[in-house]
Amino acid sequence: YSLGKSGKPREAEWTTLAAVVIEEDNRFYVACLATGTKCTTGERSKLQNVIIDCHAESLCKRAFKKFLCHHFLNGHSVDGLKFHLFISQLPCGVIERYRGAVDKDNEQIGIQRKPGKGEKCEKASCVDKIAKWNILGFQGRRLLAITKKPIKFDSIVIGNCTEKPEYNGKRFRACLTIDKYQIDPNQNKIIKSEITNMFPLNYCPSLHFNENFRESIFTRRESVNASNSAIVFWKENGSTNMVDVVVNGFKQGVTRKEVTKKLLRISKQTLTSDIDRLFDVKKDHDL
Ligand SMILES: [Zn+2]
Repeated sequence: YSLGKSGKPREAEWTTLAAVVIEEDNRFYVACLATGTKCTTGERSKLQNVIIDCHAESLCKRAFKKFLCHHFLNGHSVDGLKFHLFISQLPCGVIERYRGAVDKDNEQIGIQRKPGKGEKCEKASCVDKIAKWNILGFQGRRLLAITKKPIKFDSIVIGNCTEKPEYNGKRFRACLTIDKYQIDPNQNKIIKSEITNMFPLNYCPSLHFNENFRESIFTRRESVNASNSAIVFWKENGSTNMVDVVVNGFKQGVTRKEVTKKLLRISKQTLTSDIDRLFDVKKDHDL
């Protein structure tokens, strides 16, 4: 399958690529992938129905939920499957100079905002999001009712390891473990007694730095602009390839006025109704 030209970085642009690969009986396939480096900023009231976090990792999670909905609608389960996350470069938040300011309102746990020039983005850096997924899973809050346990990555593979000194496994691992949040020991005790059986705080996938994946288009270059558009791809029903192209947080080719009518398939509203439908089918089935 080949993605069309639409949404791909133009010449002299770079983007990040994130993908979820599923391993089943030693067979590997891509369940979903996304590109993207941007955050949509602006007045909050004008950002309804707009995707704010358009970094590849975050868009990939939306695509994964689409994949999962169809996977479950077709009666499949996730038992026996292994999940691997590929990112074409270190996620934002790991390397000092690509870090965003720490969210002051959230000082207790010190969530980093997304880095970037221009207006500040309120969303957490990708590495903080991955740290959260290591605890709560990648399936999202509502789908946990169906997966029964959080879907965690067995491994995370980082590509484009050309900046060798910075591809430091220790540093990346430190960013991904809960210790960095230095949770108050008293609070920690409460958390431990109630939810850590289901959501252990110390899980970290195996981390791999792939030196063979070298695609300059998928790595940050200071001299070159980041691509404005993002491609989101996922598989439905095993073989149907679905694509959304996101520009400025909404569907490519749609004006801001049309945003509520011409929704992305990965928009919050569409995902909500997908999951509602899945719950309805499951309920009928279980009765
Ligand atoms: Zn990011």
